[in-house]
Amino acid sequence: MKIHEYQAKGLFREAGIPCPEGHLVTSSAAIDELAAKLTPGIWVVKSQIHAGGRGKGRITMAGVDTGGGVRVTKGPEAAIAAARSMLGGTLVTLQTGKAGKQVNRVLVEAGVDIASEFYLAAIIDRETARVAIMASTEGGTEIEEVARTTPEKIHTVRIDPLLGYRSYHGRSLGLKLGFQGDVLKQFDTLVSNLYTLFVGKDCSLAEINPLVLTSQDQLVAIDGKLNFDDNGLYRQGALVALRDVAEEEPLEVEAAEFQLNYIKLDGNIGCLVNGAGLAMATMDIIKAFGGEPANFLDVGGTATPENVARSFRIMLRDKVAGIFVNVFGGIVRCDVVARGLVEALGEVQLEIPLVVRLEGNRKDEAVALLAESGLPIITAENMKDGAMKIVSACQAGN
Ligand code: GDP
Ligand code: MN
Repeated sequence: MKIHEYQAKGLFREAGIPCPEGHLVTSSAAIDELAAKLTPGIWVVKSQIHAGGRGKGRITMAGVDTGGGVRVTKGPEAAIAAARSMLGGTLVTLQTGKAGKQVNRVLVEAGVDIASEFYLAAIIDRETARVAIMASTEGGTEIEEVARTTPEKIHTVRIDPLLGYRSYHGRSLGLKLGFQGDVLKQFDTLVSNLYTLFVGKDCSLAEINPLVLTSQDQLVAIDGKLNFDDNGLYRQGALVALRDVAEEEPLEVEAAEFQLNYIKLDGNIGCLVNGAGLAMATMDIIKAFGGEPANFLDVGGTATPENVARSFRIMLRDKVAGIFVNVFGGIVRCDVVARGLVEALGEVQLEIPLVVRLEGNRKDEAVALLAESGLPIITAENMKDGAMKIVSACQAGN
């Protein structure tokens, strides 16, 4: 699960990580009220969306470019005008895709007098099964870019979970960033607090980019990103309230409500499968025959006709060029899947090719059901045959 920057900063403050004071506005009326609260000085106005690169992104409103996704403004009037030109607009950044994201929340934050910018993050290093803390002097820029061009500028320490955070972790990183004296002490405390937050909230990523050193020698987090491990959410009750489903893929949200695993991809072939392993194998074989999956929808091991029908409707709304149903009946019964398909297809006029491969438990009943239905289904002998058929049917259609 992802959350917004202003929410991450709320958790940072609770954890003792310094952040600028800010006001969140979500309506035009709230912007009106804000005018009275802002004092003279620099205000940074920031679009809140679940994607990075906002500073270099552009906002459009009714087809007109209204400016960048993060703006440093002078004085309350300019800040209010910037907030107005963001709220309700569409922000396109390198991470949002061409369609962009609608800006429904804007953070107006006290400006910080920046002397230098740094990068700091905690992630899980799967190779060593430890939390890794990464820091760099190349703050503000995309860390992927730094990793590609100047990897030696990224410093990493890995924390033994049994020992936990120790001062030498933070101090050794801080020295590499060039910190000394009081700033090094601040950094040690900040990294310690970040580690405690990371572990305590079941984070999968905690990133501060940039972490800045002000002209008054104070370390402040001026951007914040927190991702959480969904498997830990059951014990993180307070975090669930921070979820913003408007930022998530709508079809994925709908599928999750019915315990269906739906993942949107970039190709044009829809894949309805059961089980994660079969899903991966299906993606691979489609690609091996030159096709590109548009998604996969895993109906799981306890498929009911209703769930299969629901899956199929979600699939059709994803504007795919064709659908490959690849089900192995182990626990799930093939005839149950077939009944779901017949139910869903009874309601719509199918205008795209549908290839079905069913194998295993009650296959014969399933094949009979599909044959009786008179639906335009292309049956496949096996997985390879099915993949070849759906790829060529989709190519023929293009
Ligand atoms: P991102 O582009 O989505 O990562 O958004 P950031 O919150 O990182 O903001 C982008 C850039 O805006 C930062 O790297 C800073 O250079 C600048 N910025 C953000 N807040 C301030 C501030 O308070 N003062 C100044 N001078 N610049 C800021
Ligand atoms: Mn940033």
